[in-house]
Amino acid sequence: MQDTELHATVGERLRAVGQRYTPVRRAVVDVLVATARPVSMVELLDAGSGLAQSSVYRSLGVLEEAGVVHRMLGPDGLARHELAEALTEHHHHLVCTSCGTVEDVPASLRLEQTVARAVAQAAAATGFRPQTHRLDLVGVCARCD
Ligand SMILES: [Zn+2]
Ligand SMILES: [Zn+2]
Repeated sequence: MQDTELHATVGERLRAVGQRYTPVRRAVVDVLVATARPVSMVELLDAGSGLAQSSVYRSLGVLEEAGVVHRMLGPDGLARHELAEALTEHHHHLVCTSCGTVEDVPASLRLEQTVARAVAQAAAATGFRPQTHRLDLVGVCARCD
């Protein structure tokens, strides 16, 4: 998605929940586009110079409610935020338990097909209606190893 298209989509999603696309919210989205992986509050503030923690915190809550931002927990139990897959693309995560970094890893077609079969079997066995999946590989990254 081009940046202009992305910002237009974010604006629409915010309006749909009765919110405005304020400069702070836009700056937060810009940082998440630039970092392109789930970032902690510290990483986000480092990357977005001049942003106040309290306003970033509130912005993330609103963006999450609008379905723009996805929140996950890092290996340290602290939140990480990234753009929602609806605005980027489906991917998985490499989670480093040593330094806490979470990297995106592209989802291969072959892995997706295997996961889809496993999901279909689980759905048939349980009556569960799957909508999506999340796959985080937890371990130690190349820098820490
Ligand atoms: Zn690491
Ligand atoms: Zn996948």
